[in-house]
Amino acid sequence: MAKWVYLFKEGNAQMRNLLGGKGANLAEMTGLGLPVPQGFTITTEACTQYYEDGQEINDEIMGQINEYIGKMEEITGKKFGDAENPLLVSVRSGARASMPGMMDTILNLGLNETVVNAIAEKSGNPRWAWDCYRRFIQMYSDVVMEVGKKYFEELIDAMKEKKGVKQDVELTAEDLKELANQFKAEYKEKIGADFPDDPKEQLMGAIKAVFRSWDNPRANVYRRDNDIPYSWGTAVNVQSMAFGNMGDDCGTGVAFTRDPATGEKGLFGEFLTNAQGEDVVAGVRTPMHISEMGEKFPEAFEEFNKVCKILEDHYRDMQDMEFTVEHGKLYMLQTRNGKRTAQAALKIACDLVDEGMRTEEEAVAMIDPRNLDTLLHPQFDAAALKAATPAGKGLGASPGAACGRIVFTAEDAEKWDERGEKVVLVRLETSPEDITGMKVAQGILTVRGGMTSHAAVVARGMGTCCVSGCGDIAMDEANKKFTLAGKEYHEGDWISIDGTTGNIYDGQIPTADAKIAGEFGRVMAWADKFRTLKVRTNADTPADAKKARELGAEGIGLCRTEHMFFEEDRIAAFREMICSDTAEEREAALEKILPYQQGDFEKLYEALEGCPVTIRFLDPPLHEFVPTEEADIEKLAEAQGKSVETIKNIIASLHEFNPMMGHRGCRLAVTYPEIAKMQTRAVIRAAINVKKAHADWNVKPEIMIPLVCEEKELKFVKKVVVETADAEIAAAGIDLKYEVGTMIEIPRAALTADAIAKDADFFCFGTNDLTQMTYGFSRDDAGKFLNAYYDKKILENDPFAKLDQTGVGKLMELAIKLGKPVNPNLHVGICGEHGGDPSSVEFCHKIGLDYVSCSPFRVPIARLAAAQAAIRSGDEK
Ligand code: PEP
Ligand code: MG
Repeated sequence: MAKWVYLFKEGNAQMRNLLGGKGANLAEMTGLGLPVPQGFTITTEACTQYYEDGQEINDEIMGQINEYIGKMEEITGKKFGDAENPLLVSVRSGARASMPGMMDTILNLGLNETVVNAIAEKSGNPRWAWDCYRRFIQMYSDVVMEVGKKYFEELIDAMKEKKGVKQDVELTAEDLKELANQFKAEYKEKIGADFPDDPKEQLMGAIKAVFRSWDNPRANVYRRDNDIPYSWGTAVNVQSMAFGNMGDDCGTGVAFTRDPATGEKGLFGEFLTNAQGEDVVAGVRTPMHISEMGEKFPEAFEEFNKVCKILEDHYRDMQDMEFTVEHGKLYMLQTRNGKRTAQAALKIACDLVDEGMRTEEEAVAMIDPRNLDTLLHPQFDAAALKAATPAGKGLGASPGAACGRIVFTAEDAEKWDERGEKVVLVRLETSPEDITGMKVAQGILTVRGGMTSHAAVVARGMGTCCVSGCGDIAMDEANKKFTLAGKEYHEGDWISIDGTTGNIYDGQIPTADAKIAGEFGRVMAWADKFRTLKVRTNADTPADAKKARELGAEGIGLCRTEHMFFEEDRIAAFREMICSDTAEEREAALEKILPYQQGDFEKLYEALEGCPVTIRFLDPPLHEFVPTEEADIEKLAEAQGKSVETIKNIIASLHEFNPMMGHRGCRLAVTYPEIAKMQTRAVIRAAINVKKAHADWNVKPEIMIPLVCEEKELKFVKKVVVETADAEIAAAGIDLKYEVGTMIEIPRAALTADAIAKDADFFCFGTNDLTQMTYGFSRDDAGKFLNAYYDKKILENDPFAKLDQTGVGKLMELAIKLGKPVNPNLHVGICGEHGGDPSSVEFCHKIGLDYVSCSPFRVPIARLAAAQAAIRSGDEK
């Protein structure tokens, strides 16, 4: 019989896949002898089984859970439902990778009328007892039975009004008892049955709810963003309750061993007296700084400091811990490697190396490459910031600068974003349901909540700027307005927030790119030491190329030459070329284009200082460039000496039913070889000029032919290129080497790669098109139906963002396997969007690519991912 349930005593940190992060760490802390309220973990496999069994907990699992309740009762000396010494438990989710706030938790489970009366008497604290009960009914109704929270909140508000009090803590035991009864009546009305009294029934409901929460929409979005497979499932932890809300000698907190925003070493966290954990995390009350805990509970604080040291030394990483103090005694509820900003991740990694806790390799391996993106996010323009006066201040919860128009709901954030507006989401507090709105917002501002509130944790994970806990804001969410420093702000007003200082500014403050230095450079240098995969960039302009070089690009893997024609003065010449009737006309137009291209290529070579530059020949369907405005059509007609009608006819003739599979790519060079000739001239002349100016640089152009599907196609275009290039080189009397290669972006090219490799110096996988053509999904339209595919669990990720290793990857492997034996010098890269995605980079390393190429801002991500791939596979340099 499979084992579905483990006591904390039976597990350890290595069992993360089975017990989830939380369960494995509770087990590890138990093994270390730390004060952990005891309990058991139901495995992630049980979750998977629950889904396989049609969302039912089968008899075998149910039997083991019941058996372990018995064991837990023995360990704690308490009994479920007992009037003398009742067992009360928390039920929490815990996946293999931590997903803060994405799944459900239930506290105080095991309460019923009998038990409440018993604990009220035993503790001499009826207020606490009834507070626990009303919280439990509220949480259970919301999480397990999905009765909306708001009904209960309305009842609390009505009670407070009736009693003439402002805070929950001012309600008496009698008030809370009355509330608990009102809650039960509400439950019965909504559900049509009595609130369950039997603790075992409550527990099964709670466990199912946690399993179910694995599949809730916010968890699904979080998983997609964080590369967490659906198949992992979540474990469920059932733990004996420790009470932080039993009186003023109790409390609860969340703390980190290092500052998760800056990485600075030292205890960092928050604490609330007479409260339960959810109060801190949910941001309902604004907590005090952890240091104040030392004044209130000196002994527990001292012990907590010791525990922090033990845990950090043990895990050799910054820890994020939840704990409770019950009547002055410390209980550890959770520890995990803490989420952190990119800045903090780099600082912590460097500090751990300097402290002798980690090797350089380990330091490189512990940074999430996707996180680096946030380092490159904008900061406020320094001069403009100096001149501005803050209108208010909250907590700097997630660094960066944000400037946008105020919206009050996550839904509005999405709507405004779709219209192309930049928004700052302003909320009383955020809840996990807000995640989609938080994702699109430039920044998040909340009235309530501390550094460990949901808004802060999620924003940091996303790298979105966040200011939390600005209590000076008088919020009126219902009417979409708030007041700060005497000014009323409405939806659509501009606001700027600084996630580092917590400052809030009225109006717009311009932002500027972030500067990268210090620890970033150090970690990148380590990464470069270990990786074998080269990292190039996709750059079409000298400015992009320069930025990419600064970020460590070792070449250009893709220059999309058509992008050089977006500017006003250039597009005219390009349109003349497209709307030519004869080869002579086309050649005349191409003559006008040539100097632009040559000039751009020269600048690219200059920016790359002798590193390889791959120029891809014209690729897009031509009609994308034709004029649509009447005035532009008239201008073009005049320039070409044609009638407006003739131009309109030419434009109409360029129409295609399926342009992505139409007259594009190398098909353009096949029909109009003069285009390839002009582009070859521009490339070679530029290279000659730069080589003359920099004799020490290795200038060796790489000409890349797109969308090849047949050997003879490449042969034909290559012949045009070689004849033209050789003539240019001979005329210049210079020794210049160049390469001609092809993109592999049509399945047929991969399948016939042995033939194609005979004529190619290199292959570069255009995985955007290769994905499009392998799936038969239009890359422009797939967004319309992909959500349905995620909902129905047909796909877990967007294959245009994360490489489909099973299908598209197989074609890539095949192309390499067929191509390399034919041409042992063949070098191979990737330049589709996947070149900057960490898991795709790892795959590229595994199948033996020479380089990945990605957009400039993703170059550091790719460098780090490449190093991690090398370290993980044990073949680092
Ligand atoms: C590709 O198809 O992956 C590619 C890089 O080319 P483009 O995106 O320009 O079609
Ligand atoms: Mg392509």
